[in-house]
This record gives sequence, C-alpha cells and structure tokens, in this order.
Amino acid sequence: MSADAVVVGSGPNGLVAAVTLALAGREVLLLEAADRFGGGLRSAELTLPGRVHDLGATVMAMALASPAMRELDLAGVEFVHPPVAAAHPLDDRPAVLVHRDVRRTCEGLGRDAAVWRATAGVVARAGFPLTDLLLKPLGPWGARQLRPATLAAGARFGVPAALPATTLGRHAFRTLEGRALLAGLAAHSMLDLRAPLTGGYGLTLGALAHLVGWPLVKGGSQVLADALVALLRKLGGQAVSGHRVHRLAELDAETVVLDVSPEQFLRMAELPAPYRRRLARFRRGPGVFKLDWALDGPVPWRDPAVAEAGTVHLGGTLEEITLSEAETAAGRHSPRPYVLLVQPYAADPSRGGHTLWAYCHVPNGSAVDMTGAIEAQIERFAPGFRERVLARHVMGPAALEAANANLLGGDIGGGLASLGQFVKRPVWSPAPWRTPLPGVFLCSASTPPGPGVHGMGGHQAARLALKRSMPAWRPDRGQGV
Ligand SMILES: Cc1cc2nc3c(=O)[nH]c(=O)nc-3n(C[C@H](O)[C@H](O)[C@H](O)COP(=O)(O)OP(=O)(O)OC[C@H]3O[C@@H](n4cnc5c(N)ncnc54)[C@H](O)[C@@H]3O)c2cc1C
Repeated sequence: MSADAVVVGSGPNGLVAAVTLALAGREVLLLEAADRFGGGLRSAELTLPGRVHDLGATVMAMALASPAMRELDLAGVEFVHPPVAAAHPLDDRPAVLVHRDVRRTCEGLGRDAAVWRATAGVVARAGFPLTDLLLKPLGPWGARQLRPATLAAGARFGVPAALPATTLGRHAFRTLEGRALLAGLAAHSMLDLRAPLTGGYGLTLGALAHLVGWPLVKGGSQVLADALVALLRKLGGQAVSGHRVHRLAELDAETVVLDVSPEQFLRMAELPAPYRRRLARFRRGPGVFKLDWALDGPVPWRDPAVAEAGTVHLGGTLEEITLSEAETAAGRHSPRPYVLLVQPYAADPSRGGHTLWAYCHVPNGSAVDMTGAIEAQIERFAPGFRERVLARHVMGPAALEAANANLLGGDIGGGLASLGQFVKRPVWSPAPWRTPLPGVFLCSASTPPGPGVHGMGGHQAARLALKRSMPAWRPDRGQGV
C-alpha cells in the first residue's frame, strides 16, 4: 500500500492526523481494520432495527474544545445540547446538576458554590487559551498563546488539580452534594480517587460543561467520523476500511502515522531495544463493562430533573464512589459500582427512540458479568427501570477489544491515566508521538493528551511529520518486520 502518508486506524486521532496531512497537501491513505470508520466514534443498531447506539463515545465536549477540530469544516455535523449537561442523583435528596451556566450550577451547590466558582469556574472563565494548553500539553504551540491572565488562571487551577479527588473533596468541598459531584466527575479518569490528578480530571470535565457544554452529535457519533472521512476524501485522500495492518513493512510511504496501541506497535516493527523496553513498561488501565438498552420510554428517575441530563453519574456519595473505584484499582469487582450512564434522547430524538448506555469499571480483562450490578444501581435511583427495557446489548472487555484492538482488556482510556503516564505517554519525551523509526509516528489515545474525542494526538503527530527536517519511512531499510 503506497502514498505520501499512510495513517493506520480511523479513530478520532487517526482521522484528524489524516485530515491534517491532507490539508498540508500530502497524498494520504487511511487504513482501518474494522468495516466502518471511526473507532470510538462508531454507531450501530445494537439492539433493535432503527435504534442508533454509539459503540464508544457519545459526549463531545472535547471535540468542541479541541483546537484541531474547532478549525475543521465538518459538513453535516450538528452538535445538540441536553438541557442539563450532567446529573448526579442522590438517595434521599435532590440530584446535583451541572448546567452550562456556572451560576445555575452553583445555585444547587449551596456552601460549595464558592469553591466550584474558584476551581471549575476559573477554567471556564479563562476559556480556550487554558483548555488549549491542557489539550496541547507539550510543544511550543500552546506556550506561545499564554497571556499573564491565562498563566495566573493556570496556576490557580493547577494546585487543586494536582490533588486526589478524595483530598480535594474532603478539604475544599463541604457539602455531600459538592463532594459527590466531584467524585462522579473525577471517576471518569478510571483511577483510584485517592490518586494524584483525579481532582483535576473532575474539575476539568466540569469546566468543559460550562465552556462548551457536553453535547452529542445529532444522529450518532458515526456522523462525526463520516464527516471527517468525507473531508479527507474531498482533500484528495483515500480511506479504506476492512484492512488491518499487521506489519509496518506492508506500508510504502514517507510518513506512517499509527492510531494503534503501544502493544500493537511492539508487534508491528523491529524497534531499538531501549525504546522497546520503555514501551513495554506502558501500563493498561481498568476495563469497562458496557450495556446498551432499547427502552419503551424514558428512564423513570425518582428525581425528574435527571431526565434532562445527557450524562448521569450513579454511585451516591464521594465515599461510596471512592470505595467502588478503589476496588477496581485493586483488581476486584465492586458490588455497588460507580456507573456512568448516557441518555442520548435527552438531546437527540433522532436516534430511533429511547436508547441508553451505561458502563462500570472492572479489572482489565475481566470476564465477570456486571449486568445485574449496573441495573441495580439504575433501579436504585430510577425504580421501575427494568420494566422499560425492550432489548439489551452487552459488551464486556473481550467484546470491546474484539471490536477495536486498541481497547486492550476493555481499557477505553488507551492506558492508565496515572501521574506517571501523564508525563510518560507512552514514553517520556518532549515529542512522544515520534518513534525511533524514521517517519513513523504514534498518535492514539496512548499519546498526549490521552483519551477523548479531540483528535489532538493525531494533530500533534501530523504536525511533527510535516516538519521539513523529518526523515522519511522506507520499509526497505529493514526496520519493518
Ligand atoms: C464505551 C466508550 C465510551 C466512551 N465515551 C466517550 C465520551 O463520551 N466522550 C469522549 O470524549 N470519549 C469517550 N470515549 C473515549 C474515546 O472514544 C477514545 O478516547 C477515542 O476514540 C480514542 O481515539 P483514538 O483515535 O486514539 O482510537 P480509537 O477511537 O480507539 O480508534 C482506533 C482505530 O484504529 C483501528 N485499528 C487499530 N489497529 C489497527 C490496525 N492494525 N490496522 C488498521 N486499523 C487498526 C481500530 O479498529 C479503531 O478503529 C469512550 C470510549 C468508549 C469505548
């Protein structure tokens, strides 16, 4: 297979890499193993005919915040916002709600309004210059935009952001509601909430709800993937699905950008021993167990305000969620797991009826069926939920990995999001997208800035590849196997 540049894998990072290269005038060939493009952006009728489900991502806050995706002309993509970005129901009191508006959110936080304004609110107020820096953590592009005000906001945010969610929750937040909200947001990180940075993950997600919202793509996330493929083709690029690349030696191009896992890269090429050893130390995060449902009506939440939210965090208090995530981190299954649930119909009635998905975290590679535990958590806050289920689709870690080789052991984060792997992703380097093989770059979620639909790994890898000084990949040099 030959072209100026070959991109392997069509997740958001691969797609943005391909488009970035094509925009710079490169002749691009995109190769995707699955039958449909998109990786974590794919949608399919998983339950009943006509019901559109997202196999992976649904909530597109990062796409709207992404400096790379904001710039693209994505014809046909409409972002639709639920009335409430996220809800966190509680057993015996009203749910905590994250609105687009900071003030409305604070109204529900009582004595924690001030701390919310001083943390998540600061990021939202600092706006794109600060979030651009978070999404482009390395390289000169972010640094150049920094104004004193952004630096000050970054410094004010940086201290609480570095803390574990448990420490931040117990010391800075005072109400059960505020602490629970922080825990529900922080648990997106799939980390033990006693780990550093988890506070920051939670606050950043909260800030994005205020800055850009937590929207969905009308019609399903596949629409976004298809728009990126269409843009690539419009720019003269080719995209081929159903083509798995096993070895780099198959590819004849000056530039190769790989939207694949480090583990797969190790199998694809003969790499210098020091790099190979560093890559082999890359650690996986927990897996997820995901359920999709077709319902005959909306979820009967005890607190009706939850029905307005696109995303719902189930698991109760900070203490309870901390326990659930600590169990997973220790390699065990929580009987009352933290559950992340998305109800697309709150924003998008065009998906063929009431569809719903939810997952909980499980040890990497787990084969335990968590259907009962997940549905029990939903019933806890929405009695009568099970009676609404028309059909159910189950994906444990093995099924997720079979659908997308990057999701090793069901790890949807592209590797553990620990402090160590925040700086070593997948290895420590000022340009971690670059590999020791000339002209070969890694761009998947296992590179900075990590998981999410933002395409920034792809953008950064493509920008590096476009530098004039970059040597070219040639399989006949003997590095490919
Ligand atoms: C259930 C779930 C829910 C999620 N929810 C959200 C959300 O709401 N919001 C959000 O922002 N993020 C979410 N994510 C995370 C997000 O989807 C990922 O972080 C993102 O898709 C990673 O993009 P990527 O380009 O690195 O790789 P992926 O999207 O994983 O794509 C990699 C692609 O490469 C292909 N590939 C791999 N190896 C080869 C090969 N050898 N040859 C050819 N092709 C290959 C795969 O088939 C796949 O299509 C979710 C993920 C999952 C699984």
